[in-house]
Amino acid sequence: MTRTTCPYCGVGCGVIAAADGSVAGDRDHPANLGRLCSKGTALGETISLDGRLLYPEIGGERALWDTAIKLVAEKFAETIAAHGPDSVALYVSGQLLTEDYYAANKFTKGFLGTGNIDSNSRLCMASSVAGHKRAFGEDVVPCTYEDLELADLIVLVGSNLAWCHPVIFQRIVAARVMRPGMRVVVIDPRRTATCEGADLFLPLRPGSDVALFNGLLAYLHQGGAIDQNVGAIGMEAALAAALESSPDVEATAALCGLDAPDVARFFEWFATTPRVVTLFSQGVNQSSAGADKVNAIINVHLLTGRIGTPGAGPFSITGQPNAMGGREVGALANILAAHLDFDRPGDPDIARRFWNAPVLATKPGLKAVDLFHAVAEKRVRAIWIIATNPAVSLPESDSVRAALAACDFVVVSDCVRESDTADLAHVRLPALAWGEKDGTVTNSERVISRQRAFLPAPGEARGDWWAIAQVAACMGFTDAFAWSGPADIFREHAALSGTANGGRRVFDISALAAISDAAYAALPPTRWPCPAVGPSPARLFGDFRFPTPDGRPRMVATHFREPARATSVAFPLVLMTGRVRDQWHTMTRTGKTARLLSHLPEPYLSVHPDEAGAIADGGLAVVEAATGRAVLRARHDPGMRRGAVFAPMHWTDRFCPAGRINTAVNAAVDPLSGQPELKHSAVRIAKFDAAWHGFLLSAEAHGTALAPYCAVLPAAAGVWRHELAGDDAPEAAFARLLDLLAGDGGWTVLRDPARGVHRAVRLEGGRLRACLFLGPDHALPARDWLVGLFALDALSPVARRALLAGRPAEGALPEPPVCVCHGVGAGVIRAAIAKGCATVEAVGQATKAGTNCGSCKPEIGALLAAHETEMEPA
Ligand code: SF4
Repeated sequence: MTRTTCPYCGVGCGVIAAADGSVAGDRDHPANLGRLCSKGTALGETISLDGRLLYPEIGGERALWDTAIKLVAEKFAETIAAHGPDSVALYVSGQLLTEDYYAANKFTKGFLGTGNIDSNSRLCMASSVAGHKRAFGEDVVPCTYEDLELADLIVLVGSNLAWCHPVIFQRIVAARVMRPGMRVVVIDPRRTATCEGADLFLPLRPGSDVALFNGLLAYLHQGGAIDQNVGAIGMEAALAAALESSPDVEATAALCGLDAPDVARFFEWFATTPRVVTLFSQGVNQSSAGADKVNAIINVHLLTGRIGTPGAGPFSITGQPNAMGGREVGALANILAAHLDFDRPGDPDIARRFWNAPVLATKPGLKAVDLFHAVAEKRVRAIWIIATNPAVSLPESDSVRAALAACDFVVVSDCVRESDTADLAHVRLPALAWGEKDGTVTNSERVISRQRAFLPAPGEARGDWWAIAQVAACMGFTDAFAWSGPADIFREHAALSGTANGGRRVFDISALAAISDAAYAALPPTRWPCPAVGPSPARLFGDFRFPTPDGRPRMVATHFREPARATSVAFPLVLMTGRVRDQWHTMTRTGKTARLLSHLPEPYLSVHPDEAGAIADGGLAVVEAATGRAVLRARHDPGMRRGAVFAPMHWTDRFCPAGRINTAVNAAVDPLSGQPELKHSAVRIAKFDAAWHGFLLSAEAHGTALAPYCAVLPAAAGVWRHELAGDDAPEAAFARLLDLLAGDGGWTVLRDPARGVHRAVRLEGGRLRACLFLGPDHALPARDWLVGLFALDALSPVARRALLAGRPAEGALPEPPVCVCHGVGAGVIRAAIAKGCATVEAVGQATKAGTNCGSCKPEIGALLAAHETEMEPA
């Protein structure tokens, strides 16, 4: 068994894993103390070599590493010679290990001589980086997870913690059991699973967070809740800006679309509770005012001194597993390594001398959205994309695809062979995946953990740091990249953090600069700062000393402004995008497991029932913006705020081409952080006018080209589910599909054109191999029941008749699970509640639901709450 770290979110849970795929939470890891969420629990199901890129490829053909490296080096050198260093770029990822990240940044800024390296972390937490730097002088997160257990009030802003950082959410739930007086306030335009059990929910108008926290600042000031010891500079200007938008509770409530008594309650709780943690995430960061939102939150903590003490502080939680590591090594276009800055006098010289890099970039490079605009405009002509999928994940993603398709030279390093981005590459380089890689990551509470290999490197896959070092050597920079392995890189990274530091920069891990290979291999979770000399406090700024020139923090004047792209008559709704509980990014890993897809199998649109119009619950909806459109399964959700809709961002060409929502997301960015406004695009919605709906279950995957709407997913071991809809005549569509599948032969067909019903079943030796159902609307036979039939050795005559009839001969239909760990559906949970289970724990004892990872506990809670509401006398 090997101690390693989960590769998904910024919680950074410790995992104990083995080559046979067994996975357990690490009880000794401070982040999770043994817990894992549904994604972490299923990690063992994602380590197969299906779909892996195992050899370098040039133009889609297998190539030798030497040939591929030489080509990349030559193309980058030629492009720089012809068009200058800013004509090349790297676009990297919060999935990278710190050592890979360090190598990429050193190569780009130090030796290519351009600032053009940006990370998909730009989409995740760039606004927090900007906010921290403005307030504290450095990008530093002051809190630890323990503060969430010590707080008396937790304010969750723009964070569906229960789904996106489930283990932290479970820690809060457990702490509330021990300390029932602890309060939780959730601030979010939509009612999410995180609201389950909250003391107060503020469904604010999308984009109005600054107005709310400005109102809180004004309220706190008027009430005298000021800690003079903090000594923040800028209080008067911050207050003046706050009073402009939010002079009192009523004005704040009106601007934020909230009820004044609720706002007053929140303000009063904050004012009277010394131990407050305000935790924020993508709902704050992904905004054209993201940096101001972050500073508006930090302002109230600085005013009241609620920072640096147990249970108090502003707490940014990162989305990706190593977003923090990327910030440490400077792999964002506007920062240098080791928290050095382009614009702080002397800082570039420190990096230049340390790396012996005379051509070190002298100015920041292009941030993600601008970088791909530059690709489109041929200002960037060669790009190396590592471990990320911008053709799906960036806003206005169709433009990004077009830009990459027309780019002179695209290199993609990834562990999967096919992705929407890899399909556009001239050169593909095979990378190591989780379980094979070796290095470190840093989580949201500044804890550096080891990701250790427990699987052999497959084929010719190599670490990303190695590929970068090889290309660098081929370009003539051999000495600077002559590392023997990740431990070597880590030592260099640690040494740079302590160079010319002397307490100037909080990020200092120089105590690890001479770490031996053996000690690196055994490195336990280690929180920074850990300088060679001086203290290593767990939580920061308790002494109110900050890494600014004068040691004092800054309160920033945050003038409220509306989101960049307003809604209009043509596009009257606000689209917010985000994640779902069981999927990760563009599903290259989590999309491999049927279990994780069983909860939410298709891309969907959450819409308030009052605004759905002709779009039925479970039907298909078209979401359209000026930039593009997507087709999604509609879910009527009374928890949605009217005027807003929500869609998850995970689906790609590989799973559902029509479901790529980022085509409809605008590319407006925060002017300071460059973070795109993924939480506010103006769209309209309509019913997708399908002439027929259908599905194909099959022992083979048949791709995503079967119909205008086609979502493909694994439904069980050896069973593929294809959800379909089209606008041609049903008879013609049925014939066409059977034609396409004709190679499979042997279909039994049932046609009922009058009802628009068409069914076909194929058995092989009595075993079900495929079934195709078409109907006039989305009310089609239950997939889960049919999927179960594939496991039977032979279907009885009764079962065959039931199959074509589309209903089991007897017994209840299975249903999609709420608890994916134990496969427990809502009906079973409701039945347990009806029999008297009155708590989540009681439901767990009766059904096992929620007793493994606990990620579904909020949904069980919601079913309990719904039952209570039903039972209330009218
Ligand atoms: Fe992984 Fe889940 Fe922990 Fe995040 S909360 S690190 S996804 S196990």
